[in-house]
Amino acid sequence: METSSERPMGTSQQQDKAIYLDYNATTPVDPQVFQAMEPYFKEHFGNPASAGHRWGWVAESAVTKARAQVASAIGAKSSEITFTGGATESNNWVLFGLISKIREENPYEPIHFITSCVEHSSIMKAMGAVQKMGVEVDFLPVNRYGQVEIETLRKALKPHTKLMSFIWVNNEIGTINPIPEIARLAKEAKIYLHTDATQAVGKIPVDVTEMGIDLMSFSAHKIYGPKGTGALYMRSKDPKVQINPLIYGGGQERGLRSGTLNVPAIAGFGVAAEICQKNLPLENQRMTELRNFLWSHLQAAIPGIRLNGHPTERAPNNLNITLPGHKTEMLIPRLQKMGVSTGSACGTGAMVISHVLTGIGLTSEEAQCSLRLSLGRWTTQEELTQAVEILKGAW
Ligand code: PMP
Repeated sequence: METSSERPMGTSQQQDKAIYLDYNATTPVDPQVFQAMEPYFKEHFGNPASAGHRWGWVAESAVTKARAQVASAIGAKSSEITFTGGATESNNWVLFGLISKIREENPYEPIHFITSCVEHSSIMKAMGAVQKMGVEVDFLPVNRYGQVEIETLRKALKPHTKLMSFIWVNNEIGTINPIPEIARLAKEAKIYLHTDATQAVGKIPVDVTEMGIDLMSFSAHKIYGPKGTGALYMRSKDPKVQINPLIYGGGQERGLRSGTLNVPAIAGFGVAAEICQKNLPLENQRMTELRNFLWSHLQAAIPGIRLNGHPTERAPNNLNITLPGHKTEMLIPRLQKMGVSTGSACGTGAMVISHVLTGIGLTSEEAQCSLRLSLGRWTTQEELTQAVEILKGAW
């Protein structure tokens, strides 16, 4: 299966030459994915749980096929994939599902979780919530690139540590964590390793079996699939991961996540995963070249610009930059022709500074002078040349 040559609407320059460079926030649905989803909105509308007729069988077989496609893309077995409503849901489920399982067996058993200070908010805030339930949580510091250091992790282990959860590819700064190395430590210590691989799948090689990962969250809309669909991978042996169900009801998803399946979205997720798997080596190389092109041109055009995150151990499509003394908030009105993301967001009247940027040592002032540029399947070199011009003019 080839990458679609047809460019999804909206990423094209028809929209007043607007340039979308926010693929880490979300990606457009690949036209092939859209095509694969369509019949399940129309003639194949059946409920996969309807075991007694053809409408049900057709829907069920679409889900089975998608599960195999998604599993294959990450080196898992079909039976190890549970479809969810996205990575936020998968991340939350891991924490609450594990606590519930442990407490069901022994309500007084102490529980300790380890994570880092640069996780996605769906881990950060869920960890905050589990602390209120009496779970001890350590938010480990990271090095200046945003990586967890193995020695720091080793020192944090306690006899009652039940889970470590680390982001694989950081969504803001693109840094890649040494997940295979962390997995070896987790195995040695007999502690579950969960990774939030939402920004890793489709961008870098991911093989859960080979790399020894126990639980992994990921999402369809970051890999050119539909929004509101994701998965949780759970290892089936050595060790068999055991967490309690997320939602109780009709028993769908092996009783772990009840509710009628979103068949069109799941079918689309399957095709999106298959396209990513087939194109990974080429896409990875193309993204790296384009990203390097953008970075070298930005450096030449904007003196004083700095790169955040690891210089080489980073996702091929991501650049996170700071221009000290120039708040990006002021830039946004001048960047109307570009879709980018800033290192701070204005919440309800208050400025929210990126915990990832401050976590790697930037001051809150510097974090406010930062931008994330993330490239994707339809990014071209011409667009990047224009983007550099726009940024140069705006900064
Ligand atoms: N984790 C990471 C690293 C992400 O980038 C995102 C999306 N911003 C999520 C989790 C949440 O994914 P979803 O939108 O599928 O809930």
